[in-house]
Amino acid sequence: MSRYWSKPVHDLEPYVPGEQPGGGDWIKLNTNENPFGPSPRALSAIAEAAGDSLRLYPDPGNTLFRQAVAGHCDVEVEQVFAGNGSDEVLAHAFMAFFRQPRPILFPDITYSFYRVYCGLYGIEYRTPELDESLRLRLEDYPADNGGIIFPNPNAPTGLLLPLEAIRELLERNRDSVVVVDEAYIDFGGESAVALVPEFENLLVVQTLSKSRSLAGLRVGFAVGQRPLIEGLERIRDSFNSYPLDRLAEAGAAAAMADREYFAQCRQAVMEQREWLRGRLDALGFEVPPSAANFLFARHPDHSGESLAEALREKAILVRHFSRPERIRDFLRITLGTPEQNRALVSALEAIVK
Ligand SMILES: *Cc1c(COP(=O)(O)O)cnc(C)c1O
Repeated sequence: MSRYWSKPVHDLEPYVPGEQPGGGDWIKLNTNENPFGPSPRALSAIAEAAGDSLRLYPDPGNTLFRQAVAGHCDVEVEQVFAGNGSDEVLAHAFMAFFRQPRPILFPDITYSFYRVYCGLYGIEYRTPELDESLRLRLEDYPADNGGIIFPNPNAPTGLLLPLEAIRELLERNRDSVVVVDEAYIDFGGESAVALVPEFENLLVVQTLSKSRSLAGLRVGFAVGQRPLIEGLERIRDSFNSYPLDRLAEAGAAAAMADREYFAQCRQAVMEQREWLRGRLDALGFEVPPSAANFLFARHPDHSGESLAEALREKAILVRHFSRPERIRDFLRITLGTPEQNRALVSALEAIVK
C-alpha cells in the first residue's frame, strides 16, 4: 500500500507464479518447465548473438523468429505475432479484443492469469463450470459473448478438446474473438492453427516455455488472420515495440528450426507421462488422462495440501491450488526426467502407504 499508487493499483489481484527456490537440491515439478535442456542449436545461436550487435536495437518485426514459426505452422509470416512470453501475447490479446460491452467467457477451472488480465483491463467475465469429470463443455459457451478464451489442453487439468469440437464452437461463434491458448499442445494435441484460414476470429497462442524448454528466454507467439495480428501490433507498438531482444530472437528461431530435437524431447516427455500415470494409478490416485507435460492427480485418502507438504519435506515441489474448492485435493505434477519421476514415485509410495 502506498499513497503514491495510481487508483487502480489498489484493486489489482496479481498472478502468483509457482515457487522458484534459490539454492538447495529440489526436484522441481511445480511450474511445468521442460526437464530436458533447450536445443543445443538454440544455445549456440544465443552465444553467437551475444556480441557487438547487442548495442543495436533488435529487428522490430522479429522477422527471423516469425519466419521460423511460419515454417513450423505452415502460415504466412504476416499471420504471426511474437511476444515476450505467451503471457505478454495473451495480455495484448485481452487488451486488443476483449474490452467489449458483453462479458468474455472462460472455464471456472483454468489458467488463473485470465482473471488477472480482466482485473487489469477492467474486463467483465463469466466462468462456465467444467463438468464433473473436469471436461470443458463448449455448449456452455453461448454466442452472446464479448470473447472466449481457454487453454487446450486445459490447465491445470491436462484434458484435451478435439479439433472438431473447437471447429463447432467457431462455426456458431463468429461475432467475437476466440483465443485458444496452446501452451501444451505439442504434448499430444492437434493444433487449432489448422483452422486459422477458415475463421477470421480465431487466435491461437503458443509458447516456447514448455515444449521447447525455453521458459527462461521468454518467447511466445500468436497465429491468426491478418486483421487480428494487426490489432496485436497496434497494442504492442503503444507499449513496447521491441518485445523480443536479440538473444531471445536468435535462440527462439533456432529452437523452432530444430525439428529433430523437438521431436525427441516431446516424445520423451509423453513416454514419462504414461509411465508416471500408470504408477500413480497403482498407488490409488485418480488421474484424468493428460495431453500436457503434467498430470493432475488426487488420492482418496489424502488431502492435496498434506501430500504437497509431505513431498516438500522430501525436497520435491509440486503445485497445489487451494482454490477453487473443487480442485483443492489435486496435485499438479510436472513430468520430470526419468530419474526425478522415479524419485517422486518412491516418495509417494512412502507417503500414501
Ligand atoms: C505456461 C503457460 C502460459 C505462459 O507461458 P509463457 O510463454 O512462459 O508466458 C500461458 N498459458 C498457459 C495455460 C500456461 O500454462
